[in-house]
Amino acid sequence: MQKSLFFILSLVTIFLFTSCTDDLGGGEYQEDIQPTYSLRKSCASHQHMENLLSDPEYKKQYDNRIASFNKSKTNTFEKALCNSPTIIPVAIHYQGVNNPNASCLIDLAKKQVDILNADFQGKNSDINKWTSNASSSFPSVNFGETCLKFCIADQNHPSGYGVSNGQPAITINKTQGDQINAWSGYLNIYVQFGTGALGYAPLGGAGNGDGVVIEATAFGAGSGCGSVRPENPYDLGRTTTHEVGHYLLLDHIWGDGCGQDDDVADTPNQATDNSGCPSLGIQSCNSSDLHMNYMDYTNDACMYMFTSGQSQRMETYLASSLSNLIHKASSVCSEAAQNGGGGNGDGGNGDTICDTPESNSVNQITQTSAYFNWTGSDDAIKYQLRYRVQGTSWTKINTTSPEATVSDLIPNTTYQYRIRTRCDFGWTAQTVIQTFTTEAGNNENDDDDSGNTSSNSFKVEITLDDFGSETSWFIVDNDNNLVAQGGPYRDGINGRVKSKNIELSNDCYTFVIEDYYGDGICCDYGDGSARIVNTNRTVIVESDGNFGTYDELNFCIEGSSTKLGKRKKDVKKKSLARKR
Ligand SMILES: [Zn+2]
Repeated sequence: MQKSLFFILSLVTIFLFTSCTDDLGGGEYQEDIQPTYSLRKSCASHQHMENLLSDPEYKKQYDNRIASFNKSKTNTFEKALCNSPTIIPVAIHYQGVNNPNASCLIDLAKKQVDILNADFQGKNSDINKWTSNASSSFPSVNFGETCLKFCIADQNHPSGYGVSNGQPAITINKTQGDQINAWSGYLNIYVQFGTGALGYAPLGGAGNGDGVVIEATAFGAGSGCGSVRPENPYDLGRTTTHEVGHYLLLDHIWGDGCGQDDDVADTPNQATDNSGCPSLGIQSCNSSDLHMNYMDYTNDACMYMFTSGQSQRMETYLASSLSNLIHKASSVCSEAAQNGGGGNGDGGNGDTICDTPESNSVNQITQTSAYFNWTGSDDAIKYQLRYRVQGTSWTKINTTSPEATVSDLIPNTTYQYRIRTRCDFGWTAQTVIQTFTTEAGNNENDDDDSGNTSSNSFKVEITLDDFGSETSWFIVDNDNNLVAQGGPYRDGINGRVKSKNIELSNDCYTFVIEDYYGDGICCDYGDGSARIVNTNRTVIVESDGNFGTYDELNFCIEGSSTKLGKRKKDVKKKSLARKR
């Protein structure tokens, strides 16, 4: 059954994050009128494709790719033994990541590519759900095992993206958008925030620097890296599997309803998309739905196979219309990378990765000087040490080697210090604030106008709800430097108060409390809340816990007084339903 592919705009379910802003002093918050959108798997590929095809030049090249594909398709396809898989060079581009943790992001990308390889080769650990159970409901369907190998490129990178020869092609905050000419010949994976969907891809990619776009909360698997964190139920890397399926010319499993299929012979017709985790045997179009297919919209844990027809289609498209990717592989993927290494820089020591110094020390402390050194990174451009007496402004020292001597200190005085690294992608996060005290002098030094610094100790207190693993918080100063952070915590300790002592000087701060599930920390599963108190236990700022994904509280410390600023919070979406 042929269909007029690609011109049908499927309705895309988007999830909106509404927020309202109010002055803290203003009191009440208005709950916005709740949208009826729900969080579920959605993919904006059809809409993306329609946009692309509105460009006549793109359309012409697209038609050529499909014509080559159709020509190849008529040949008998014999599945060869997969002794030497076709290598697909991959580059991953993280975009707009605050305080990126480079080594963590690199590991996350490697994990995602491992998932791609397993899923496309039919070697995923959950394929037994098909082989030992679901397959009996689909006697004419075999699961797919492509002879493809995704390889994170590790050599001959385009210049200007902060990756040197031998390192994996993973860029951090060096690109924008979803098509970059310099990265032609690669399957690019663009990891972005705020795509409005879980992801999108062209239906049949071009290899011209285009690629798949994945929402940062649906990329990779595991605990993630700060804000780049896969969220249940899209936390097993299957959004990328789905989008790469589109890139290799797979349509959604349901095509466009019972009358028009997805142009793959062995997939049963299906009326529409499935979501969540459907029971085996649900039917539409007089046959069982193949809802465990990667090209449906079900939860990551409930999709685990391509069909052999889909695999054949993808391999044919790659061979007929993406030969530039295949040719590129030999020059950008070393043998080590092809064998799964994904470039060096891993293997435990990690010292070639540009990152926040792992450890540091301060010694040789005298009345007026101190010597600092810290763990360096091979790819660091420079480092910045900042130090101050609590309550005063930072003095900053830039240095190209991982050490510095400071020599204008006041005797018998406690200083704070922290260090960060300048990498190709920008500044890393700072080390946590640490302190040291200079030696006492013979003379009283009265060059001290900050005598009442002792009032700068505060305590962050988080009262947990029943889902502590969803809760975390951080405080940044006026320059967006991370000052303190905490969480996530354990589940099942509803009502427990987690506290942390912090030091704040005269500056303005933002205290952000987050719940990654999106249902706040009050009041459905406990009465969670968050606040900062001073040493007299006076409340400085407080969140009632009734928010969606975050509650952001701004405040300033001015000596012994504090001033409240704006509050911004994400409103809880009432449609969130627990599936645990
Ligand atoms: Zn899709």
